[in-house]
Amino acid sequence: MNRRRQITIETHSVTVIRLKSGSVSAYCESCREEVTAFSPAQTAAILRVDPAEVDRRIETNQIHLTRRERGATLVCGSLLKGLENE
Ligand SMILES: [Zn+2]
Repeated sequence: MNRRRQITIETHSVTVIRLKSGSVSAYCESCREEVTAFSPAQTAAILRVDPAEVDRRIETNQIHLTRRERGATLVCGSLLKGLENE
Protein backbone atom coordinates (compact mmCIF):
# COMPACT_ATOMS: atom_id res chain seq x y z
CA MET A 1 0.00 0.00 0.00
CA ASN A 2 2.91 2.31 0.69
CA ARG A 3 4.11 1.91 -2.85
CA ARG A 4 0.81 3.03 -4.30
CA ARG A 5 0.72 6.10 -2.08
CA GLN A 6 4.24 7.04 -3.14
CA ILE A 7 3.27 6.80 -6.81
CA THR A 8 0.42 9.21 -6.24
CA ILE A 9 2.67 11.77 -4.62
CA GLU A 10 5.17 11.52 -7.45
CA THR A 11 2.39 12.10 -9.94
CA HIS A 12 1.45 15.31 -8.20
CA SER A 13 5.05 16.52 -8.27
CA VAL A 14 5.28 16.13 -12.02
CA THR A 15 3.18 19.05 -13.05
CA VAL A 16 3.90 19.38 -16.73
CA ILE A 17 5.84 17.09 -18.98
CA ARG A 18 6.33 18.70 -22.32
CA LEU A 19 6.00 16.19 -25.07
CA LYS A 20 5.67 18.16 -28.26
CA SER A 21 5.64 15.06 -30.40
CA GLY A 22 2.38 14.10 -28.70
CA SER A 23 3.27 10.69 -27.41
CA VAL A 24 6.23 8.52 -26.55
CA SER A 25 6.76 4.84 -26.02
CA ALA A 26 7.63 3.45 -22.63
CA TYR A 27 7.75 0.06 -21.00
CA CYS A 28 4.67 -0.68 -18.92
CA GLU A 29 5.31 -3.18 -16.15
CA SER A 30 1.60 -3.92 -15.87
CA CYS A 31 1.21 -4.69 -19.58
CA ARG A 32 4.73 -6.13 -19.80
CA GLU A 33 5.31 -4.53 -23.16
CA GLU A 34 6.22 -1.27 -24.84
CA VAL A 35 3.20 0.97 -24.91
CA THR A 36 2.34 4.42 -26.08
CA ALA A 37 2.62 6.61 -23.02
CA PHE A 38 1.23 10.01 -22.17
CA SER A 39 1.87 12.54 -19.46
CA PRO A 40 -0.78 12.82 -16.74
CA ALA A 41 -1.79 16.17 -18.23
CA GLN A 42 -2.21 14.65 -21.68
CA THR A 43 -4.18 11.81 -20.16
CA ALA A 44 -6.52 14.27 -18.53
CA ALA A 45 -7.04 15.95 -21.87
CA ILE A 46 -7.61 12.67 -23.71
CA LEU A 47 -10.16 11.47 -21.16
CA ARG A 48 -11.64 14.93 -20.72
CA VAL A 49 -11.27 14.75 -16.96
CA ASP A 50 -9.35 16.87 -14.51
CA PRO A 51 -5.87 15.78 -13.34
CA ALA A 52 -7.22 14.75 -9.93
CA GLU A 53 -9.48 12.24 -11.68
CA VAL A 54 -6.46 10.84 -13.53
CA ASP A 55 -4.75 10.38 -10.16
CA ARG A 56 -7.81 8.59 -8.82
CA ARG A 57 -7.87 6.23 -11.77
CA ILE A 58 -4.17 5.50 -11.35
CA GLU A 59 -4.77 4.74 -7.69
CA THR A 60 -7.57 2.35 -8.53
CA ASN A 61 -5.51 0.73 -11.31
CA GLN A 62 -7.89 1.79 -14.03
CA ILE A 63 -4.85 3.47 -15.57
CA HIS A 64 -1.32 2.10 -15.51
CA LEU A 65 1.55 4.25 -14.44
CA THR A 66 4.80 3.81 -16.30
CA ARG A 67 8.07 5.64 -16.35
CA ARG A 68 10.79 6.62 -18.76
CA GLU A 69 14.50 6.46 -18.16
CA ARG A 70 14.72 10.16 -17.43
CA GLY A 71 12.34 9.68 -14.54
CA ALA A 72 9.34 11.36 -16.05
CA THR A 73 6.05 9.96 -14.86
CA LEU A 74 3.95 8.72 -17.73
CA VAL A 75 0.65 6.99 -18.10
CA CYS A 76 0.31 3.77 -20.07
CA GLY A 77 -1.75 4.42 -23.18
CA SER A 78 -3.03 0.88 -23.66
CA LEU A 79 -5.92 1.30 -21.25
CA LEU A 80 -6.81 4.77 -22.45
CA LYS A 81 -8.12 3.49 -25.76
CA GLY A 82 -10.97 1.72 -24.06
CA LEU A 83 -11.65 4.46 -21.56
CA GLU A 84 -11.68 7.09 -24.24
CA ASN A 85 -14.90 5.78 -25.68
CA GLU A 86 -16.83 5.89 -22.44
ZN1 LIG B 1 -0.10 -0.79 -19.21
